[in-house]
Amino acid sequence: MSQTNRSIWVFADYRNYFQNRVTLQLLAKANDLAPALKAEVCAVVFGYEVDEYVAEYIAHGAHRVLVVEDASLKQYSVEKYTILMQNLAGEYRPEIILIGATSFGREFAPRVAKRLGTGLTADCIGLEITEDGNLLQIAPSFGGNLIAEIITPQHRPQMATVRPGTFQEIPHDNSLRGDVVRLPIPPKLPKDRLQLVAYERQPAREQRLEEASVVVCGGRGMGSKAKFKKVFELAQLLSGEVGATRPIVYAGWVNEDALIGQAGKNIKPQILFSFGISGAIQHTAALAGADFIIAVNKNPNATMMKMADVAVVADAGQVCAALIKGLKERIQTKADYAD
Ligand SMILES: Cc1cc2nc3c(=O)[nH]c(=O)nc-3n(C[C@H](O)[C@H](O)[C@H](O)COP(=O)(O)OP(=O)(O)OC[C@H]3O[C@@H](n4cnc5c(N)ncnc54)[C@H](O)[C@@H]3O)c2cc1C
Repeated sequence: MSQTNRSIWVFADYRNYFQNRVTLQLLAKANDLAPALKAEVCAVVFGYEVDEYVAEYIAHGAHRVLVVEDASLKQYSVEKYTILMQNLAGEYRPEIILIGATSFGREFAPRVAKRLGTGLTADCIGLEITEDGNLLQIAPSFGGNLIAEIITPQHRPQMATVRPGTFQEIPHDNSLRGDVVRLPIPPKLPKDRLQLVAYERQPAREQRLEEASVVVCGGRGMGSKAKFKKVFELAQLLSGEVGATRPIVYAGWVNEDALIGQAGKNIKPQILFSFGISGAIQHTAALAGADFIIAVNKNPNATMMKMADVAVVADAGQVCAALIKGLKERIQTKADYAD
């Protein structure tokens, strides 16, 4: 590969591949940005036995895939991956590096930026190219109360992390073609100072939260982890997915991948149930795509209640339980009728 070609790089994060499509979403965005810079789109893959991913990235718009493959890269290692990215970026000088704001991306990206002596905008919700060819990085700031537009005019590469669900991936297309460039692993990669004790892939969701047509979302007003189970039960009865606010994720009532908001996912369901949620901007910023919102809150003046199409002033747990009971009765009646 020529060192003089302009390129936009997307770091390949495939740990939870089938749940987490952020790499594909970034490839789509990189394809949007590339014509303005006359740049090619490269996926950068580190790992072992990664051919399946390489093919998938080409089918989703990568013009080129840079692969460093070695058994020692099988597990994600922030130290090794940082040095590999630093070496490659130093050699090939990409214009832009995009990284998913996953838990790994969030620890990896700042390390790479520091080593390359460039800037990094975290958690971007928009990316554009300015008239003079800089990457305009649009990101919430000051706790989500302001939207900042940031450029990095003096340094290259321009680096940004992007939250999963922000951009739409290009549909899989087997007719797309791309080059695969296999690069050797440097002889002197440092030994990991961290030792991985165990590795467990999260169980797959039924469907992706970002794509679900029904989302049942719970907040602190649900009261406790035990009571929050009703949110799961209702979501299951409605063939929907569970979402949550940040305090719920921090309390460990749900996994981080259920977080909706500035630090989590954007959703666009046809129906959103919102139980015991105040409606802080960091949460509601991710709900713009919801068609119909039903909110339950004790406080009629909560922002979430004002945003809702139907606002029910009541105890969230009780309404959730009543809906579950009603749905179960309907299902039973239908079953009896069918018999
Ligand atoms: C940089 C930053 C990023 C953030 N990112 C996110 C993010 O991505 N997503 C996110 O969600 N938050 C995020 N937050 C946190 C956010 O500001 C709010 O604190 C959070 O959304 C509030 O969650 P909540 O609505 O569950 O809790 P609360 O604000 O405590 O609201 C609880 C609601 O439940 C109601 N209630 C209480 N009891 C009952 C009951 N029995 N029945 C019915 N209603 C009841 C109350 O009236 C209240 O409205 C972020 C904050 C910062 C600073």
